[in-house]
Amino acid sequence: MTPERKDLASPLTVLSGIGPALADKLGRLNLHRVEDLLFLLPLRYEDRTQLVKLGALEAGSRCLVSGEVLLAETVYRGRRNLLVRIGDGSGQLTLRFFHFSRQQQAQFKQGARLTCFGEVRKGPAGPEMIHPEYRLLRDHQANAVDDSLTPVYPATEGVQQGRLRNLTEQALHIMRQSPPAELLPRDVRDALDLPLLVDAIVYLHRPPADADVTLLLAGKHPCQLRLAFEELLAHYLSLRKLRAVAESEPAQPLIGGREVSDAFIAALPFQLTAAQRRVTEEILADMARPHPMMRLIQGDVGSGKTIVAAIACLNAIACDVQAAIMAPTELLAEQHWRSFTAWFEPLGIRSAWLSGSQRAAARREALESIADGDAQLVVGTHALFQEGVNFHNLALVVIDEQHRFGVHQRMALREKGVSDHGHPHQLVMTATPIPRTLAMAAYADLDTSVIDELPPGRKPVATIALPETRRDEVIERVRSACLAGQQAYWVCPLIEESDVLDYEAAEVRYELLASALPEIRVGLVHGRMRPAEKEQGMRAFKDGQIQLLVATTVIEVGVDVPNASLMIVENAERMGLSQLHQLRGRVGRGAKQSHCVLVYKPPLGQLARERLAVLRDSNDGFVVAQRDLELRGPGELLGTRQTGLPDYRIADLARDAKLMPQVQIAAESMQRNAPDKAAAIVRRWLGDAGRYGKV
Ligand code: ADP
Ligand code: MG
Repeated sequence: MTPERKDLASPLTVLSGIGPALADKLGRLNLHRVEDLLFLLPLRYEDRTQLVKLGALEAGSRCLVSGEVLLAETVYRGRRNLLVRIGDGSGQLTLRFFHFSRQQQAQFKQGARLTCFGEVRKGPAGPEMIHPEYRLLRDHQANAVDDSLTPVYPATEGVQQGRLRNLTEQALHIMRQSPPAELLPRDVRDALDLPLLVDAIVYLHRPPADADVTLLLAGKHPCQLRLAFEELLAHYLSLRKLRAVAESEPAQPLIGGREVSDAFIAALPFQLTAAQRRVTEEILADMARPHPMMRLIQGDVGSGKTIVAAIACLNAIACDVQAAIMAPTELLAEQHWRSFTAWFEPLGIRSAWLSGSQRAAARREALESIADGDAQLVVGTHALFQEGVNFHNLALVVIDEQHRFGVHQRMALREKGVSDHGHPHQLVMTATPIPRTLAMAAYADLDTSVIDELPPGRKPVATIALPETRRDEVIERVRSACLAGQQAYWVCPLIEESDVLDYEAAEVRYELLASALPEIRVGLVHGRMRPAEKEQGMRAFKDGQIQLLVATTVIEVGVDVPNASLMIVENAERMGLSQLHQLRGRVGRGAKQSHCVLVYKPPLGQLARERLAVLRDSNDGFVVAQRDLELRGPGELLGTRQTGLPDYRIADLARDAKLMPQVQIAAESMQRNAPDKAAAIVRRWLGDAGRYGKV
């Protein structure tokens, strides 16, 4: 039999000890090839490189010890326990077993020598280890200590640590025989003092006895940075490549709408802020190019993104093409429908509305006007981009509150609007400010504009946190605010992401508040209402017929009612900071001083306390987002729970996003000087297709 050729690209089954069943289990962990094992990094390490004297054991530590059996006995403590007392001259230790076989019991003869590894606990008669790993030593066998730290891999159902150690050992062996290419150029490694790939991998799987474990556990060791850096670089290169491809596509240059949009701006009841003007210019310049715009607008809640989007749409429509605006929820889409038609109808612009819950006849009519170009502006939810929607001449797509849509949807949308006229220009807007370095990682395919200024006269929302035991006081606050002619929101907690429970909780709260506040007109809006009902509720609130609006978090994004000046949020301790900031952004839109009361369920943990303090102390969405990133990680900010930010194998954006400026520099230099290596890095980390489509 010729020995099978093994290299890093071989399937895992070339390793000894892997049958189909185990390969299957590992496959479910996304481990398919030998190389994948190298990137499965240990979560922590155990120190078996030195023996600890029994007289020096500390409760809570995990350590390697050695000794001679002094006594072994079974005792009954409710169930049978096997107790083995060992000693080494400096002290004694009891090994306690609840499950044991007769043979096992017989091994522990008086005088037998063994080494054990386990966690030390305080027992009734001195230090104990419960079910330690142990090994009996033959007569003259010396105590063996390891010469590297022992890796502990992420737990895998049905795959023992010992097995994983054995498999990674084999993978490391294969790696030494045929090492992977070193793809990071020397100048990049030198700039950050990063070790070679092979050295980093060996170190992380088998750190030397004197390794800095604290640094490793914090994920800050240069060897970890080396791998995280390469992975971030791979994703970044892939997004940039995608962008370069998209950017080379043709698009309709939209020139000549200037006069119309200038007139529109001049007729607004307010002046655009300097930031709005700057961003508008950036957008119009993009749209004038014969390649598709791909721009992300970040702007805090209330910074006035909608009007900027409207100007972009108007500019397109004035050039005789169609524009579409898409929002993530019906409520938000409806609000845009109202604002846009109010702005555009007087100009003689025809609009169409498209949503998932629309009646068949209305939908047919909308589809027709979209297809024959009668509708110049189309407003809707993601229903805009479903089968059967054919645009006549779509040249601009605006996506609002983009954090609800993931990378993949963004890509898909880009394809959707393609026609003979080329790709549509794309503008995405988010009110969840993303810290700069994180945005570099997540939105490397987009240009970014920031509206970093609020319209004049806005007062910061005064925020306080109160325990729910003081709910009565909160209700009194609502009463006096409403009696003074103001309006208030009361946001109910989200219950386990369940629509049904969510809405029941809102109903219950509504009943309670309506009966506690008989002199106040209370309304209810929740996610399970039909759009028409919701619309009715929101409109009644906007028109002032309702004074207190009880709602679920459906009102989170975008809703605009300037007369509302009090926001109550229940179970605030369970919500993300950026989400709370969004909710709070529903008030503070008028000239009156607004207040936000965050109601929490006591007792508050340390972290929850810190989180609520962030909101109390800052009204700046970027500050809130940065703290959210530090405290909760990037998933919350980028909405990855709903959508797909890539799963990084090694990089952790909360920890490693700060590498992004260097990643960017490295990417640019590699694209110029080592394009083959750049492509190989993408392949290594994202597979042949690249994660975001073909690259
Ligand atoms: P967001 O950026 O959160 O989407 P909106 O676009 O809903 O904010 O704007 C919030 C409110 O501010 C709206 O009532 C809008 O009409 C108003 N607004 C926008 N720009 C200005 C401005 N430059 N001056 C005064 N009010 C403005
Ligand atoms: Mg908005």
